[in-house]
Amino acid sequence: MAAGAGRAIDQRRGPEDDVHIQTAAVQALREQEHGAVVPPVHLASTFELDPASEDGAYAYQRGSNPTRAQLETVLATLEGAAHGFAFASGMAATAASLSTLEVGDEVILPASVYGGTYRFVDLVLPGRGITGRFVDDLGALTDADFTPSTKAIFMETPANPTLRITDLRRLVELAHRHGALVIVDNTFMTPVLQRPLELGADIVVQSATKYLAGHSDLLAGTVTTDDDRLADAFALAQKAQGGVLAPGDSFRLIQAIKTLPLRLERQQDSAIAIVEHLRAHDAISQVRYPGSHSEEEARIHASQASGTGAVLSFELAPELDRVAFLRALRYPAYAVSLGGVESLICRPSTMTHEAMTPQARANAGISDELLRLSVGIEDVRDLLEDLDQALRSASR
Ligand SMILES: *Cc1c(COP(=O)(O)O)cnc(C)c1O
Repeated sequence: MAAGAGRAIDQRRGPEDDVHIQTAAVQALREQEHGAVVPPVHLASTFELDPASEDGAYAYQRGSNPTRAQLETVLATLEGAAHGFAFASGMAATAASLSTLEVGDEVILPASVYGGTYRFVDLVLPGRGITGRFVDDLGALTDADFTPSTKAIFMETPANPTLRITDLRRLVELAHRHGALVIVDNTFMTPVLQRPLELGADIVVQSATKYLAGHSDLLAGTVTTDDDRLADAFALAQKAQGGVLAPGDSFRLIQAIKTLPLRLERQQDSAIAIVEHLRAHDAISQVRYPGSHSEEEARIHASQASGTGAVLSFELAPELDRVAFLRALRYPAYAVSLGGVESLICRPSTMTHEAMTPQARANAGISDELLRLSVGIEDVRDLLEDLDQALRSASR
């Protein structure tokens, strides 16, 4: 695995134009006015219209604007999608993806779904007459779980922070048999490693705050789809709800995406090296990474993604002092979020998944001692040395 991981990213071609994804990330906006090699930032909130037709390519920034439109072209190109939409945050994108649901509808989600999504479904959707049904294991869903009201499945694979894998193709087939949409939060994989639309999913959402922006300095979200009717709903969500990405941030995201495949390749290679190192370490009792749960999950993941990503989780052996370990770390910051060039470590039970009930956490395999590491682009030799010295100083 370790040896081929980086090359796996490199060989992945863009789905539509037969261009490698690193090339698409850089060249998607090749044609610019004046021969400029990067797009301009259009800050205008309003645009002049032709008095006779009262028409124009753009009218008002919230509806659409040239810079966000260029970013949306990049998003669609990377995903091989017909339509891309940029929102002010991953949660605005998630909310838009669920805006197609109506009174009386039900959406099925895993109990371990991203905390913000859990909050939205738990506290906001009921007021709109929409039910969120949380299940412990999406992989165990069968025909019997669907009712006529089930209109969508919202899923993440790998799951966070257990990195458990769900068979995308199987869920798509199951959901579509019952007329339900499949929405995939692809934040952990990005289109560089996994393209759910190609596997039949209807909608992909991402927190671009993570890998796409990649530098822990920008909040943004994306929605992509091939479906024209859904695209109309997302354009309406932008215009009517207004949670759109600003032109300056759209430009910064265009810029950041150029190095996404490059960053992720390095981060993934380092993550694999860290997984191997921690697995062999006496002071570590569990290491989780996509495919680590079982041969079966490894096989499914390999069939639907071209890499394992750069997030892993692990537990310290009982004789180690967690707080001492975290304090002793020199590089990974103890902070939520992931996907940045700097390594971050967090404790999901109290930081990202505290909204789940203790029972749901236990069912999902999220213990109080589980730590999640998002591997950055630092030299992996320094990261390994840092982990080792922190483990040494955490021995009680
Ligand atoms: C961070 C995150 C979100 C929410 O994105 P924001 O940009 O913080 O609003 C949604 N899903 C996943 C998997 C995330 O990690």
